[in-house]
Amino acid sequence: MQEFAPPDDVEVLSAHHAQVGALRVRRSLPQRRRRTVGAWCFADHMGPADVTEGSGLDVGPHPHTGLQTVTWLTDGQALHRDSLGTEQVIAAGELNLMTAGNGVSHAEEATGHYRGTLQGIQLWIAQGDESRDAAADFEHHGDLPRVEFAQGSATVLLGDLAGTRSPARCDHPLVGAELRLNGRLPIPLEPTFEYGAIVLDGLVELGGHELGPGTMAYLNPGRDELGLFARSASTVILLGGVPLQEEIFMWWNFVARSRAEIDAAYDSWRNNDGRFGKVDSGLARVETAPPYWRSRES
Ligand code: MN
Repeated sequence: MQEFAPPDDVEVLSAHHAQVGALRVRRSLPQRRRRTVGAWCFADHMGPADVTEGSGLDVGPHPHTGLQTVTWLTDGQALHRDSLGTEQVIAAGELNLMTAGNGVSHAEEATGHYRGTLQGIQLWIAQGDESRDAAADFEHHGDLPRVEFAQGSATVLLGDLAGTRSPARCDHPLVGAELRLNGRLPIPLEPTFEYGAIVLDGLVELGGHELGPGTMAYLNPGRDELGLFARSASTVILLGGVPLQEEIFMWWNFVARSRAEIDAAYDSWRNNDGRFGKVDSGLARVETAPPYWRSRES
């Protein structure tokens, strides 16, 4: 057994199942073996699930710090509300990008009008020191650039791919894209990036591996092309970026650098001291037990 994979090898990681609000999700990041891909530090494939006008994601107001949430739906619609006053319906093929900075809170709700299938991915990007203590922000992009290939296409969510750049805010050297393919898709890669390819739908071959929903293929830096082959119509989320140089500390909905920062964020949320603002939502605030390193608090 080799201790380290050679650069040509592909590492296949299985997602674990988790529950977010009313939905079961497949979590590809973080995992014990791989906590980040570039600055991407969280990846949940949500659904497919049936939702109604009055019930869907149903995630009540909860806080974030030090990260950006990237929401991309492949089916259906959901309603985003946040403490900046944003109320934004997101539909399949659209991007919601929320930057937490020093603190924001949001809820994810049913739309009041959409009934049908809901499916998508929620991703987090760890913010760097230059922006993680700055103000919160929200962007919605209804129309993102697409690159057409002979046997598929790529929609660029963040960063750039094959010379096409997303208009969404991007503070890191990274890329996020949705690949749709039926056949061979030769995607040009940035050699300084590491990559993760998360299969949402279909069946693809990569480096001798067969990948279906619930798997992520990890690729080390040093490649200039991704050779994906799909035998049937498939959807893949491609994440890439320069490997993070600093150690990040994640707990619950917070990305930080130390326990002290997490403790402060936790106390602000528990005491509702204004740091995370207020979300105009009918759903109950999400509470959680204190961090494990603190003695039991009542
Ligand atoms: Mn959230």
